[in-house]
Amino acid sequence: MGVIPKWKWAGGGWGGRMAALWGLLFWSFVSMAEAQPTPPSGWVRLNYLAARQGLTARSEGLRRWVAWNRSFRVELEEKSRRMVFNGVSVYLNAEVRRSGSDWLITSVDANTILMPLLTPSASLVAVGSQVVLLDPGHGGDDPGAPGPDRTPEKKTTLDIARRVRAKLKDTGITVRLTRESDHILPLESRIFAAKQAPADLLVSIHFNSSGNRTVSGVETYMMPAPGFSATTSVGASRRPPRPVSTCSGSRFGAMNSVLAWYLHKGMVSAIGADDRGVRQANFYVLRNAPCPAVLVECGYLSNGSEGSRILTEAHRERIATGVARGIMTYVSRSRENKAPRPIEMQ
Ligand SMILES: [Zn+2]
Repeated sequence: MGVIPKWKWAGGGWGGRMAALWGLLFWSFVSMAEAQPTPPSGWVRLNYLAARQGLTARSEGLRRWVAWNRSFRVELEEKSRRMVFNGVSVYLNAEVRRSGSDWLITSVDANTILMPLLTPSASLVAVGSQVVLLDPGHGGDDPGAPGPDRTPEKKTTLDIARRVRAKLKDTGITVRLTRESDHILPLESRIFAAKQAPADLLVSIHFNSSGNRTVSGVETYMMPAPGFSATTSVGASRRPPRPVSTCSGSRFGAMNSVLAWYLHKGMVSAIGADDRGVRQANFYVLRNAPCPAVLVECGYLSNGSEGSRILTEAHRERIATGVARGIMTYVSRSRENKAPRPIEMQ
């Protein structure tokens, strides 16, 4: 055996140092992995999502998780479905959980609500010329809820739909109404109209009513994800709602969320009404919609002061401005559409 050339020793020494370095890195990855265990199946770590989207995240006290950057602020509370996204309430399909120093959100809520709100144009399907179908609730023998002076809901919903159509004139959006006059229109016919149009968006317009006359404010409804339940609302029975099964309307989870959020934000800021949140409900028109669909409850007719405001033209004009603004924002975001980018499961 001859003398081993010096460069080999040097090389060996370098290789050894590299091996030691890689060993160190390997062990630090392992210990990082130990510090952040894989979440249970069907759940995603909120800190992972925040970091991926360039948000700074931290726990506030024991029960709150907050994440923000220059454009977004997300607030969540342990064991609650309510998320505050840029100051507006959105109910998730399931409560968020705390697991040690980690916070977990269901992958359904990450994929169909949180990520679409953070990257709206990536979640929407681009359509050249949008057809929006406005659906004024009730009509004919079905008056809906009575207003403070007995003005029926059916009259007010039609008035709002007409005002929204007027505001969307000359925007390049084609607007149709499911009914143009005061006649009964079965729910199946409303869905048939959406298929015939064919509509790219369906917005059903209603006003709310409750036995609790102190309740006021606006709510926007979308379909719950399959396997999840509706958000309980005012006057709901004590029985917990049953989880919904897969249906036509649940195909549009991410688009429903973005549409609901823009409409709700539009209404809350235009009216200055109480924000009762984007909620989930298994309504016929949402369940059977052939396109992204939401149902807006533009205020409580049963509340003395809100009911009286709804009877004024100025207030209805503000509601219509909010709804029209929400639709326009959704349409312009969908025109910026990029390839969908679903999140990876960890
Ligand atoms: Zn109604």
